[in-house]
Amino acid sequence: MDLASAYQRLLEILAEIEDLKMAAAVLYWDRQTEMPPGGSVARGEQLTTLRRLAHEKLVQPKVGELLADLVTEAATMPGDSDQASMIRVAKREYEMATRIPSRLVVAMSEASDLAYHKWLEARAANDFATFVPALERVVALSRETAAALGYEDHPLDALIDQVEPGLDASKVAALFAELREPLVGLTRRIVASDAGRRAGLLHQEYPAGKQLELGMAAVRAIGFDVDRRGRQALSVHPFSISFSPDDTRITTRINRDYLGTSFFALLHEAGHGTYMQGIPDRLRRSILHEGASAGLHESQSRLWENVVGRSRYFWQHFLPVARAVFPSQFGTATVEEAYAAANVVRPSLIRVEADEVTYNLHIMIRFELEKAVLDGTLDLADLPEAWNRKFAAYLGIIPPDDLTGVLQDIHWTMRFGGSFQSYTIGNVASIALYRQALSENPGMHLDWSEGRFDSLLRWMQDNVHTHGSKFFPEELLVRATGAGLTAGPYLEHITDKYTELYQL
Ligand code: ZN
Repeated sequence: MDLASAYQRLLEILAEIEDLKMAAAVLYWDRQTEMPPGGSVARGEQLTTLRRLAHEKLVQPKVGELLADLVTEAATMPGDSDQASMIRVAKREYEMATRIPSRLVVAMSEASDLAYHKWLEARAANDFATFVPALERVVALSRETAAALGYEDHPLDALIDQVEPGLDASKVAALFAELREPLVGLTRRIVASDAGRRAGLLHQEYPAGKQLELGMAAVRAIGFDVDRRGRQALSVHPFSISFSPDDTRITTRINRDYLGTSFFALLHEAGHGTYMQGIPDRLRRSILHEGASAGLHESQSRLWENVVGRSRYFWQHFLPVARAVFPSQFGTATVEEAYAAANVVRPSLIRVEADEVTYNLHIMIRFELEKAVLDGTLDLADLPEAWNRKFAAYLGIIPPDDLTGVLQDIHWTMRFGGSFQSYTIGNVASIALYRQALSENPGMHLDWSEGRFDSLLRWMQDNVHTHGSKFFPEELLVRATGAGLTAGPYLEHITDKYTELYQL
């Protein structure tokens, strides 16, 4: 087989794998939005089968043979070309997948299905102990996965590398070490001021239908194409998912007494959605039709949720829109009041509801606990107590029970370790990317006050979305901003914003 035919054959196999993954994604979407509870066992089996088939298709010897022929040729091409990138990324995925036996893929899928149900049970009973046996199995399989993938220092290295190619636990720990003290200190200074004084505006009764009307107006304004290439639904936990660049779905949830829940979740998920819609059509049905990493994905959601949606300029434009939808609730509110209400900082128990300043502290707590459990220095039975101790140290509050503490996240039902760090990476990267976009388009943020967000979206499309998953996150950041992952610009942005807002 000549090299051109070998490359075509590889693309065909990868396209079929994508089809299987996207079919699984449709089943997942349906499970979270439409499926009756009775469907869950059958759906678990269907998802396991599709995941196994995708895995088996990728590890077939033919893929290895094709890659062996193609890598030498790829070395002679420009590294950022589609073809060289396709071969490079396929090789990495193939090598990772061949290290994980099918048996382990199936065991993990089954264990996570059971853990999900036990987690729901434990939440209903508000009792972590109910979750421990199923979680123990997930931890054991996560360790086994890490060992199969291989690592030098810590099992977390392998798990992090799966979602943040090129990063490891020590690099993440170094980033967190830079963030920890300044964020704990800033939180304390805000608490000591009169934090929470302006919370009232968003905490009123907001009818559900109107909440969606307002949130979707914001989603359309920032440039997520919801009509022709997108959909929105409700789910218990907001998420976004994509089946192709032309079919990207987002969800939100409604809290009748707090507008922020649905509104900022919609902006967040639509941010993810712009990334998927921004990946060029020529990469569809390929291994490059993805974001660069979970953290880079999160940089796009945080950009629109926080940098834009919680900015003064955004509310200069959006306050009249909000007032038209909610005349009595927004009645006499000023831009300053809306801006302040969108940026209330207060140590809180629940990660997904945490503000911009305290959010990363929630992430560090989880990362440090995962590290301790995986290296055997912390028993799962002691996790709730360790959780509470860290909450007291970083946030100055202690969860009253497991439900508002250690049982709050779904992530550990799927695997233990390597997921949470990406949220903080996203926060930090969102500021780095925004600052670069602003330096190339001075005054760009002033457009927001007139409801124009296209220059920011276009910059992200040209510098981030267009590459799909060609580059490692660090490499993409260097290309886009000239610097890798570093805490400095993020800390400066957050400190400046809240020092001004709270007059510290
Ligand atoms: Zn997200």
